[in-house]
Amino acid sequence: MYQDVLLHIGGQWRAATGSRTIAIVNPATEEVIGKLAHAATEDLDEALDHAAKGFAVWRAMSAYERSKLLRKAADILRSRAETIARILTMEQGKPLAEARAEVAGSADVIEWFAEEGRRAYGRVIPARHPGIYQLSLREPVGVVAGFTPWNFPMSQAVRKISAALAAGCAFILKGPEETPASCAELVRAYADAGIPPGVVQLVFGVPAEISEYLIPHPVVKKISFTGSTVVGKHLAALAGAHMKRATMELGGHAPALVFNDADLDAAVNVLAANKFRNAGQVCIAPTRFLVQEGVYEPFLEKFIAKAEALKLGDGLADGTTMGPLANPRRVAAMEAFVADAVSKGASLRTGGSRAGNKGYFFQPTVLADIPAEARVLHEEPFGPLALVLPFATFEDAIAESNRLPYGLAAYAFTRSNATATALGAAIESGMIGINHHGLALTETPFGGIKDSGYGSEGGAEGLEPYMVTKFVSQASS
Ligand code: NAD
Repeated sequence: MYQDVLLHIGGQWRAATGSRTIAIVNPATEEVIGKLAHAATEDLDEALDHAAKGFAVWRAMSAYERSKLLRKAADILRSRAETIARILTMEQGKPLAEARAEVAGSADVIEWFAEEGRRAYGRVIPARHPGIYQLSLREPVGVVAGFTPWNFPMSQAVRKISAALAAGCAFILKGPEETPASCAELVRAYADAGIPPGVVQLVFGVPAEISEYLIPHPVVKKISFTGSTVVGKHLAALAGAHMKRATMELGGHAPALVFNDADLDAAVNVLAANKFRNAGQVCIAPTRFLVQEGVYEPFLEKFIAKAEALKLGDGLADGTTMGPLANPRRVAAMEAFVADAVSKGASLRTGGSRAGNKGYFFQPTVLADIPAEARVLHEEPFGPLALVLPFATFEDAIAESNRLPYGLAAYAFTRSNATATALGAAIESGMIGINHHGLALTETPFGGIKDSGYGSEGGAEGLEPYMVTKFVSQASS
């Protein structure tokens, strides 16, 4: 079922110039399952040329017609959901149920932006004198270059592409080289829906080489990146040097606050499910569990039981609730974080090692009583590590929550409305879920502040970054 992955340029699926390829590995088995076309500079030039032409066609089409094609792409994706979910699990590792949810969610995102594109209203501004019309018009920004990662090969790409297309832009995606086929299936859905050639294109290669070629190129007017803060800062600087607009969805280190008055079972259930979803490789995963002293030990006990009940395995196997990490870099990173924390005095309450002798499996891990100097309290772990720390007062919890330069997601559990309201105001993050998860829905804003980036990728706000404003002041002649 898993097939080699090609580039999509100018409406054609084709090999790279020079026929270079990259191997694709199943993280559960470490077997090579296919190969991926590796774009040469000539391929990028062709994609840029087609993007400029595709943009001219697409922007001239009415929002109504664009919306119909996007809705068709959503229907196509749904009709192929089961096959695509299996492909996604094979290359990325997540359990099949999570892969199915990712495909279904991607179709919802396309549909949402198909509708939002029809509501990209401008304004008529009251004039100072009769006979003058002041119009604020919203126009597509132009050709967009997007760079998306391997943790959600479809969800990360679909938000960017769908918003851009709904706004009337053309899109060149550099997809994730380690998990390319599900991302290619997403692009295939747009193409098969009849979206004109050059409007959505897909390339792969060496990420730095592609971004450094596309970002300064005059055809590209905006970039959108999801990935680590360090790479995001580099790309934002490059975009700035060439006056390109940018959306940056970067790393996080989400605090999850559990107060003495919380519904403890609800907190444990929601937080454990979201900690270990996609083996913790989620930018909004709860990471620092700040638990008030009165419920610290009971929380730990219940949370550890949840971690130990997870069934690790191949995501395609029945009963698997946590798959492997997506690549060997993450396993090495988990081992280093745990060794560093334990050597500095943290207590390892469960997990902490690789699992099995094949595949990139790492045990669900809980570290408690972690000293402030442990690296994992400063760097995003991006894996199945839960860091549990006690706190005494509301102010202490807020101080720890806001200590890091990250500001993506936060969570809190309390039965007090007063505490919930105060939290919503005091937390420095782009999103907060109180007494449930509730984040990353199609119709709600998604994005961070501080070093977690800028721009929003969900809800009505998601269309905004792909549009520019033009003011027309017109007097009758
Ligand atoms: P990495 O930092 O090199 O890569 C992260 C992502 O950025 C990958 O998709 C990669 O292809 C891309 N990338 C890297 N350099 C690039 C460049 N110069 N131009 C364009 N794209 C570039 O390393 P990694 O091992 O893949 O991931 C490590 C860290 O990245 C994780 O620990 C996590 O913090 C972060 N990450 C975040 C997300 C997210 O959803 N925000 C997703 C994946 C990775």
